[in-house]
Amino acid sequence: MNSMHSTNGSQFESVIGLEVHSQLLTKTKMFCTCPNIFGIEPNSAVCPVCLGLPGALPVINFEGIKLAVKAALALNIVINKRSVFVRKNYFYPDLPKGYQISQYLEPVSSGGYLDIKVEGVEKRVEINRLHIEEDAGKLIHIGNESYVDLNRAGTPLVEIVSEPNINSSGEAVAYLKELRDILVYLGVSDGNMEEGSFRCDANVSVRKKGDPDLGTRTEVKNVNSFKFVEKAINYEIERQIDVILNGGKVIQETRLYDSRENLTRPMRGKEEAHDYRYFEEPDLPPLILTDRFISEIKGSITELPAAKRERYAAEYLLAEYDSGVLTQDKEIALYFEDLIEINEGRVEIKKIANWVINDLLSELKTKDKMREKRKEERVVDLVKSENFLGLILEVEAGNINKNTGKTVLTEMLLSGKKAGEIIKEKNLAQVSDEKGIGDIIEHVLEENPKELAGLISGKDKLFGFFVGAVMKKTKGKANPKKVNEILKRSIAEKNKEC
Ligand code: ADP
Ligand code: MG
Ligand code: ZN
Repeated sequence: MNSMHSTNGSQFESVIGLEVHSQLLTKTKMFCTCPNIFGIEPNSAVCPVCLGLPGALPVINFEGIKLAVKAALALNIVINKRSVFVRKNYFYPDLPKGYQISQYLEPVSSGGYLDIKVEGVEKRVEINRLHIEEDAGKLIHIGNESYVDLNRAGTPLVEIVSEPNINSSGEAVAYLKELRDILVYLGVSDGNMEEGSFRCDANVSVRKKGDPDLGTRTEVKNVNSFKFVEKAINYEIERQIDVILNGGKVIQETRLYDSRENLTRPMRGKEEAHDYRYFEEPDLPPLILTDRFISEIKGSITELPAAKRERYAAEYLLAEYDSGVLTQDKEIALYFEDLIEINEGRVEIKKIANWVINDLLSELKTKDKMREKRKEERVVDLVKSENFLGLILEVEAGNINKNTGKTVLTEMLLSGKKAGEIIKEKNLAQVSDEKGIGDIIEHVLEENPKELAGLISGKDKLFGFFVGAVMKKTKGKANPKKVNEILKRSIAEKNKEC
């Protein structure tokens, strides 16, 4: 690749528009009663409707409509009280009907936005529309053979189309993360990119800065992680700038991202809308939504991640980063809020936040292992909020030190026991009594005369050596504050004696 662009490339700006497909968490498919589940025996969740057998008629899944409207409202997209289902016609082996039921000119919602923040800078990404459609089946390639699995055929999707007003891969990723968090919070989607329940196509173009017209775009498919979205977009921007700087023209086409080689390859010429021969689905009536239906769904939307982040900063005085971490996963956010409620002001909120962020979350990284062991699905079932707060209170009261606290937490997650029980059983209570600690210190000083002499002669670094030795002798259970105090006193005395 030409390296000229690094100097000349700065005269270009990139323009990105994202198309996101998100599966809806309905029990059944969008137009039939087959179950909507992932990972079961191929072709075991199919019926005449989703197989496209002649004469079978689709019926609209009300639950799917509800979830789509909920997502649209959360994304500030205007709900269209009348929308129309259409047939999008094309041939592919995973599409038995020969068309996909979708929405086109009259989608269920259009015109909205999502506010994002990239490196501290706020930006509003305009959303063109959110519409409802059905998914296609899947092809499975094994060696030289290909198989068709139609379990996914007919499962509900929303497609969310942004305007082309995203200007960097960083903005694209921030938008996708925020979007996914919202859908997961709402219970609309499970947001799993690897399993394909949250998928994204990136439309990318470049233009000279200040040019009012958009450049020719390519559509990049197969970007199934945030990392890949970022890399694929960056690659595509550089590639297009190179083409232009070398006197060529970007061709409008669909390209495939190859994550192993980190590049995009042409896949097919870009289809035009008229290629799909859109026409109104004759077997379904237009979808008419009432004000009451819409306002009921609006009322069911709970606090979203962005609102939570702001409230955590304002109400709990937490740093932006901490609020971000705590709100990323709805389950954790609600758990944290529960801790604060039952705490009733006993422990500083900042401290509770630290326990959750630094200790609980890192322990939960091995959650899958624990879940296997204990078959618990939710964090609250692994460690009840009152038990977790109980642990924090033990540390605050000085019954155990912070390090022992971490050991106790690991044990709590494994056994589900309370902190107090574990401390007793494992004899972990902190040694705080002056006499006990004093005796141990005397011992340690006697055992290390050379280091003691060094310390007295002014090698202050050796102080840490003695603290460490005392902690080791007490198996980490000594109250470190007390150890420091008493050690200082003993050494001052020894100093006088000399
Ligand atoms: P389709 O891909 O089905 O033809 P659209 O015309 O709705 O559909 O556009 C799809 C996406 O492409 C939208 O997200 C839009 O913002 C984006 N897009 C359109 N033109 C450009 C462009 N010149 N550069 C970057 N993205 C673009
Ligand atoms: Mg497209
Ligand atoms: Zn079916």
